[in-house]
Amino acid sequence: MSADTLIKVEGLKVYFPIAGKGLFGGGAGEVRAVDDINLEIKKGETLGLVGESGSGKTTVGRALLRAVDATGGTIRFWHQGEEIDLRAVGKREMRGYRRYMQLIFQDPYASLNPRMTVRDIIAEPLEAQGLCKSKKEVDERVRAIAARCKLNLEHLRRFPHAFSGGQRQRICIARALVSNPDFVVCDESVSALDVSIQAEILNLLADLQKELQLTYLFIAHDLSVVAHIADRVAVMYVGQLMELAPAKELFARPHHPYSKALLSAIPRIDPDKSFKPQKLPGEIPNPANVPTGCRFHTRCPHARDRCRNEAPAWRRMGEEHYVACHFAEELLETP
Ligand code: SF4
Repeated sequence: MSADTLIKVEGLKVYFPIAGKGLFGGGAGEVRAVDDINLEIKKGETLGLVGESGSGKTTVGRALLRAVDATGGTIRFWHQGEEIDLRAVGKREMRGYRRYMQLIFQDPYASLNPRMTVRDIIAEPLEAQGLCKSKKEVDERVRAIAARCKLNLEHLRRFPHAFSGGQRQRICIARALVSNPDFVVCDESVSALDVSIQAEILNLLADLQKELQLTYLFIAHDLSVVAHIADRVAVMYVGQLMELAPAKELFARPHHPYSKALLSAIPRIDPDKSFKPQKLPGEIPNPANVPTGCRFHTRCPHARDRCRNEAPAWRRMGEEHYVACHFAEELLETP
């Protein structure tokens, strides 16, 4: 770990038991939503976490915030020089740390209480955690963060139904940031918005990051969205990481066949480059029944016998470039 590490995850596992009786009267198995992940998030960066629906990326975000309990591994968080083992802290103690770790939800329609005014929605984390000495201080902080999120202060007395999707997402962002967090998980935070509004919200998140020295884990299924905001990108598939690299490097020269397939689906602006999306066969496997060996072998166009029998190691291929593929070097020049 380096001095600029904010979060370090080692061997993270999140398994969910399947209800019902198995063949011999035992449990019916488990869903391996996250299965042995190592990840480091640096202060002030945006780490993009991408993958298809069902890859486990949302579960990683929730495990880091302790919104779901991890089954194994460690999650360490550094705050004001103190190292906190998040899996070891009790529920009550965790409530105290929550103000430093926040979540911006995907759906700005569903995540706002329709019976609360915008002022009360934004003030909720301050009041719930007793972070202010007076109502006046709450109001000041609500107005300050609302202004930073470019909300009209006249609108604080209104109810969420009066607002568009983009404005509602600004309210969600203000609510997440009002407690001065260090770390924010943005879970598909622009996916429900129109493309033009997506750009506005991404720009706002980037501005707020600079102003408030925030660190983001930006979860998305759409790589083109991540390209706008991430410093580094991690690619996830059936509960495991396939590749992790600086964003520019990953977009210019992906090493893993799965990353290549995801990138091929982004339309090119350059008319000289042909647009040939690579269609992967079949569906993403069920995490309750993961394939043997490399999890991607059932859809990988380069799979061989070794891939079916032996799980590839998570290994370093460049200064900050990690890949899980037996044949990554050999496949570098293949499309
Ligand atoms: Fe494809 Fe084999 Fe590499 Fe897995 S290990 S990505 S199946 S070539």
